[in-house]
Amino acid sequence: MEASKTQLWSEENGVHYPLATRCAVCDRTSFPPAARCRHCTSTEVQQVRLSAAGVVEAATLMGDRQIIHVRTTDGILLLGQAVPAGRVRVGSRVRFSPVAEQMRFELDE
Ligand SMILES: [Zn+2]
Repeated sequence: MEASKTQLWSEENGVHYPLATRCAVCDRTSFPPAARCRHCTSTEVQQVRLSAAGVVEAATLMGDRQIIHVRTTDGILLLGQAVPAGRVRVGSRVRFSPVAEQMRFELDE
């Protein structure tokens, strides 16, 4: 893993997984991945792959965009955009579907 470049996700067999770092000292997870733990500032971090599936905890329409908070099934809270906007609700199951640097999620049907 190259520490200087922040990669937000990885792809495997057509599934996109958000990437984070887990700290060996405090065992907490940082997203986006960081060379230093956001919780205790330790540099003993390792890249981990988060679940691609999650549940919407909050959703706000901003113009034609819908900003959502998603709790992944492994318990990490992510901020992103629902595509298409307006279809997801709090409690909806979504799947990670990023485009370049954009954290996008679509309804998991
Ligand atoms: Zn830590």
